[in-house]
Amino acid sequence: MTELIVDKAYIAGQWRDAERRFAVTNPASGETLAEVPDLDGDAAREAVAAAEAAWPAWRRRTAKERAALLRAWFEAIMANQEALARLMTLEQGKPLAESRGEVAYGASFVEYYAEEAKRVAGETLPSHGADKRILVFREPIGVVAAITPWNFPLAMITRKCAPALAAGCPVVIKPAEATPLTALALARLAEQAGFPAGVLNVVTAAKPAEIGEVLTSDPRVRKISFTGSTPVGKKLLAQCAGTVKKASMELGGNAPFIVFDDADLDAAVEGAVASKYRNSGQTCVCTNRLLVQAGVYDAFLEKLTRRVAELKVGNGLDDGVMQGPLINQAAVDKVQSHIADALAKGGRLVCGGEPHSLGGTFFQPTVIADVTDEMRVATEETFGPLAPVFRFDTVDEAIAMANATEFGLAAYFYARDYRRIWHVMEGLEYGMVAVNEGILSTELAPFGGVKESGLGREGSRHGLDEYTELKYVCVGGL
Ligand code: NAD
Repeated sequence: MTELIVDKAYIAGQWRDAERRFAVTNPASGETLAEVPDLDGDAAREAVAAAEAAWPAWRRRTAKERAALLRAWFEAIMANQEALARLMTLEQGKPLAESRGEVAYGASFVEYYAEEAKRVAGETLPSHGADKRILVFREPIGVVAAITPWNFPLAMITRKCAPALAAGCPVVIKPAEATPLTALALARLAEQAGFPAGVLNVVTAAKPAEIGEVLTSDPRVRKISFTGSTPVGKKLLAQCAGTVKKASMELGGNAPFIVFDDADLDAAVEGAVASKYRNSGQTCVCTNRLLVQAGVYDAFLEKLTRRVAELKVGNGLDDGVMQGPLINQAAVDKVQSHIADALAKGGRLVCGGEPHSLGGTFFQPTVIADVTDEMRVATEETFGPLAPVFRFDTVDEAIAMANATEFGLAAYFYARDYRRIWHVMEGLEYGMVAVNEGILSTELAPFGGVKESGLGREGSRHGLDEYTELKYVCVGGL
C-alpha cells in the first residue's frame, strides 16, 4: 500500500466521509484497496455551491498568483511521482512504467498552464465609428464540472483542471468509480500546494448518474468537460441543453493505423505495438484497426505477430510487464465477443485470442488477420488488446476505409513518399493524425476529435480558450 491513499471526498476544503461507501479494487488481484464515500446529488450540489462561493476571489487573484499555485501543484505531483504511479497501477492495472509516464504527462499540463495562465489576453479591434472603441475581454467562464474516465485516472483530470484553474475557474471533479483514489491523491496534493477551499472539489460516487444530473442541470455550473464513452457523452450533452451549458467532449475513437507499401515496416511495427497494446489497448487514441497494403501485408503481419508474442503480460507492479489486466470482466467480455465475431466471419487468428492463464481479467495480446468490413471490429471500439488486420490495395481505398466510421479522434499512418504523406494527411477526417509515429499525446498540442469523437480541444493554448468567455465592450461617445 502507498501512503497516498486518501479515502475521503473533498468538498469546500473539507475531507468528507459518508455513511455509504464503495470499494475500490485492484484489477490485478481483486483485492480491496480502500473504500471511498458514495455521495449523492446533495453532495454534488454542495460542491457546486462551494465552487461558486470560491469563484469571485479566485478570479480576482492575479494570473501570476494562480500560476504560482499551479506551479506548486506541479512540483508536488512530480515529487510524488513514484507514489502516484504505484497507486495508479494498483487501482487501474497499467504497468508501472506507463503509470510513471502518465504522472509526468498529467503533471505537464499543470506546468504548461501555470505558464500559460499569464498569457490570457483580450484585444482591441478597429471600431465602427470614430467616437467608439471596441474592447474584447477574455474572462473565466465560471464553475466547471469535470467528469473523467478510469483509463487515465490522473492525466484526464489535470488536462481539464489545470487550464480551468489557470483561467480563473473553480472545478468540481467527478472521477470514474473504478479509479477515485488517484483523483483524491491529486486533491490532497492540491490542498498541500495551497489552493483555497472550494476552488477544487472531488465528489466520489459508485453510480454516476445522480451526480451527472446535478452537474449538467445546475445553472451555477457554466461548463462541463467530459472524457469518456460516446453514449454517455451524448446523454450528458442532451442534459446540458436545459441550461445551455457549454460542453467539451472527449469521446470514443476507432483509430485506423495504416501501413503503406513504402513504409519502414520495423518502425511501423514498433508504432503499432505502442499504439495498440499500451494500457492493454484501453486508450481512446489506441489503434482499433490496422489497415495494411497488400504488397507488404504478409511481411508486416509476420513481424507484428513476432513482436506481439513477446509482450509480457502480468501484474503491472512486476518488472518487465508490458500489459496489465483489463479493468473489469465486462471489458474482457467485449474483447472476446469481437474475437468470436471476427473468427465466425472468416478472420484468421494468428496470435493470442484467449483469456490469459494468469486468470482474472488478464488477456492474451491478440492479432487477427484477414479482417473485413462486416466484422464488428470495423465499426466498434474494442478497448482491449486485439489488433485486427485489414488489407487494402490503393491509397484512396485506405483513406476511404479509414474515414468509414462515425468517429474521428486519432489516425496513424506509415509511409515514406512525401506526396503520399501529404495526400493521406489531408484526406483523413480526424482531429489528430500521427505520421510515422505511434504515440502523439503531449500537452503542447491540441488534443481532441471530430465527428462523434467529441467537441473542443485539450492541451496547448487552445485548451485554455475552452474555459474562457469573450466579453465585447463598446465604448461610445468619445
Ligand atoms: P464512461 O463513459 O463509462 O465513463 C466516463 C465517466 O463518466 C466516468 O466518470 C463515469 O462514472 C461517468 N458516467 C457514466 N455514466 C454517467 C452518467 N449517466 N452521468 C454522469 N456521469 C456518468 O467511459 P469509461 O469506460 O470510463 O472510459 C472509456 C471511454 O472513454 C472510451 O470510449 C474511450 O475512448 C473514452 N476516452 C476518450 C478520451 C478522449 O480524450 N477522447 C480519453 C480517454 C477515454
